[in-house]
Amino acid sequence: MISNKNKIEIEKTYDIVIVGAGISGLTLAERYSSLGKKILVIEARDHIGGNCYDFKDEHGILVAKFGPHYFHTNHEDVWEYVNRFSEWTPFEARIICHIDGKKVPLPVCIQTINAYFGTTLEHEDHMKEWLATNATPIEDPQNAEEAALGRVGPILYEKIFKEYTIKQWDKHPQELSPEVTNRIPVRTNHDDRYFTDRHQAIPKYGYTKLFENMVTSKNITILLNTDWESVKDTVTYTEKLFFTGRIDSYFAKKFGPLEYRSLRFEFETFDQEYFQEHVQENYPSLAFPFTRIVEYKHMTGQKHPKTTVSREYPTWDGEPYYPVPSEKNREVYKKYQQAAEYLEKENIYFVGRLANYKYFNMDQAFKNALDLFARLENI
Ligand code: UDP
Repeated sequence: MISNKNKIEIEKTYDIVIVGAGISGLTLAERYSSLGKKILVIEARDHIGGNCYDFKDEHGILVAKFGPHYFHTNHEDVWEYVNRFSEWTPFEARIICHIDGKKVPLPVCIQTINAYFGTTLEHEDHMKEWLATNATPIEDPQNAEEAALGRVGPILYEKIFKEYTIKQWDKHPQELSPEVTNRIPVRTNHDDRYFTDRHQAIPKYGYTKLFENMVTSKNITILLNTDWESVKDTVTYTEKLFFTGRIDSYFAKKFGPLEYRSLRFEFETFDQEYFQEHVQENYPSLAFPFTRIVEYKHMTGQKHPKTTVSREYPTWDGEPYYPVPSEKNREVYKKYQQAAEYLEKENIYFVGRLANYKYFNMDQAFKNALDLFARLENI
């Protein structure tokens, strides 16, 4: 049952209380409901699904409120799990960057070099030779700049990574951990897919529908529009509390605030079938105030005479979206992590992207929640 707190009287005691109705919270709710537990999920926003939430806009076009989510996984257990709640349509994202008026595929692969430099590389050997000449591998990259520079060389680092990263994070790549730019591989072949995982797909009727199907059990009550702070003194749990929100908020920021980057989305609908060629087109240059334009119909396969796109403007305001991988944040997080581990004695667990302060992909979020459940319940 999904309710607004104004409409129902909630009971005071549950077996399991979960704060947050994103991937982690709903996976735990679903798993515990399968054991017959009585579960309360508290969600501050007016919808479930966290940042994966999608909906039909005023034109009837399915769009994602918080940007595109390309599901990809090599975890068979996760793939099996998500298939219980939806049919999935295969979808492999192909993404391009606009640099100097040219469209070049990302991740960097043979076509990227040919499209930007006008070369005619054909084989892996050519690409390896190009990289050997143009990039100087950095053995143990210390930051996101070294990670990108060492792999693609100075020109592509400047054109693809440097300014995009500054816009996205409001920090120079030198201030960010290597993992930020390492998320994007470099390929020596023609494979221009964004991901290479075995399973890549989109829930046939959208993510929101998938999440709704996960929480149909009458053992699960979801309370929307409700801050944890406003109910924490009235609701009690007899077994466990799972917290999936910002870990610094749980502890009233007593070790200082952790940075979470957000995005502002500007939606626009065009009276034409398609706006751009790819689902996602990136604009790394600082000359553009946004980082990327996403056209949802490419992903959903929806047929519609109009099309809706969103431009993404990184910002510090708004919903927490990305933990910011920097040395300073890591140090602060460690303190919260210690405090959180201590609370396991009281059966309080911190789980998910915001609570673990990690840049998880969707499948990792499912996997962590499933693994935690298995560990706690010895299943
Ligand atoms: N990135 C970049 N240029 C691009 C795309 C990504 O510099 O055109 C960098 C940027 O720092 C970004 C990181 O690579 O935060 C990871 O990109 P990804 O596409 O995984 O970001 P997400 O989809 O999670 O926002």
